[in-house]
Amino acid sequence: MLARHRAVLPDWLALYYDDPLEITHGEGRRVWDAEGRAYLDFFGGILTTMTAHALPEVTEAVTEQAGRLLHSSTLYLNRPMVELAERIARLSGIPDARVFFTTSGTEANDTALLLATTHRGGNQILAMRNSYHGRSFSTVSVTGNRGWSPTSLSPLQTLYVHGGVRHHGPYAHLDDEAFTAACVADLRDLLGHVRAPAALIAEPVQGVGGFTSPPDGLYAAFREVLAEQGVLWIADEVQTGWGRTGDHFWGWQAHARNGPPDIVTFAKGLGNGMSVGGVIARAEIMNCLDAHSISTFGGTQITMAAALANLGHLLEHDLQGNARRVGALLLERLRTACAGLPGVKEVRGRGLMLGVELIRPGTGLAAPEAVAAVLEEAREGGLLLGKGGGHDTSALRIAPPLSLTAAEAEEGAAILERALRRVAG
Ligand code: PMP
Repeated sequence: MLARHRAVLPDWLALYYDDPLEITHGEGRRVWDAEGRAYLDFFGGILTTMTAHALPEVTEAVTEQAGRLLHSSTLYLNRPMVELAERIARLSGIPDARVFFTTSGTEANDTALLLATTHRGGNQILAMRNSYHGRSFSTVSVTGNRGWSPTSLSPLQTLYVHGGVRHHGPYAHLDDEAFTAACVADLRDLLGHVRAPAALIAEPVQGVGGFTSPPDGLYAAFREVLAEQGVLWIADEVQTGWGRTGDHFWGWQAHARNGPPDIVTFAKGLGNGMSVGGVIARAEIMNCLDAHSISTFGGTQITMAAALANLGHLLEHDLQGNARRVGALLLERLRTACAGLPGVKEVRGRGLMLGVELIRPGTGLAAPEAVAAVLEEAREGGLLLGKGGGHDTSALRIAPPLSLTAAEAEEGAAILERALRRVAG
């Protein structure tokens, strides 16, 4: 299969593992490979499996819809799309919210940038260092992570801001309060040098960048400065939305002192593997476009049916609460396991979005080879993990389906502990 993959697919389509995995089946928090080996899934296919693999409600909704109507058009009324938009608008906290559905996070951010630049009449965007927002022409232009920016050409003028990464950069040594003050001063200084930008786009917790977050309240402090010039705040909730961070339903709520963002984007887990993304914005912003639609496939009945069933399950079973409780257990367990391991710099995160930063012992430098080795060891032990980071791949990423049980958290932590002791001990 690997040879066939290489023969017809682009070289830049990255695969995990020396011997890449072919997943053929999933259930709950587990997946099985083509040889029938089971793995506990601590990455949910880059967070696309939000609740659980093969969630019966989603399977039933998709099967029922597929048997009735498979159709794609934005020209006719679409009941599941309206119902889902109503639910999301209510959950968003954005006043007079409008929701537009897309097929991916990239397309959602693309639309958000289109809205912001059109609404504000300018093409300057503020983005965070170490960020990831997608790889379309516009989203790659606001991605401040070199490993994920395949072109230097850009339709936007982007200015990068400090603050998204807590553990490296010029302010890393400061305490939270001083870090926030330094980043705000940096933003204010930057704004003094440029024309008023259209928007700031930021992930509340950087995903691809290695699950690193700023001190709570940083974006609220930014917002006060941005508001002086009418600059919009776009929160990219593609990884942080739907309760993953445990304490909050949206990641931006850790920065909610002065109200919700102007625009929120989402994707990944909402469809539990079906392609659903979207943009939420106040009506005055959403309606600034003179467009009939943006894509034909955003909001198809089948993806909306999956998302409605998945979101219903998440809310009824309080999976946000589960993420908070089980995430806290797992964080503590991993911190204990890693105490004294010279190759581990930090275990961080919130809810079921945890990062383990590895270093070359004694140097403080990133250890991409150790990250890769831990991934391989964990796989051998029956555990799937993710990886990420900024200048280099420096962190393990842990983001299981939100229904992870305490017993499964312990099972995965034990496998990871063994792998870390072998590689980073
Ligand atoms: N924003 C963030 C924060 C992401 O993590 C990703 C995907 N890793 C995207 C946008 C792009 O989403 P998609 O892959 O669905 O296009």
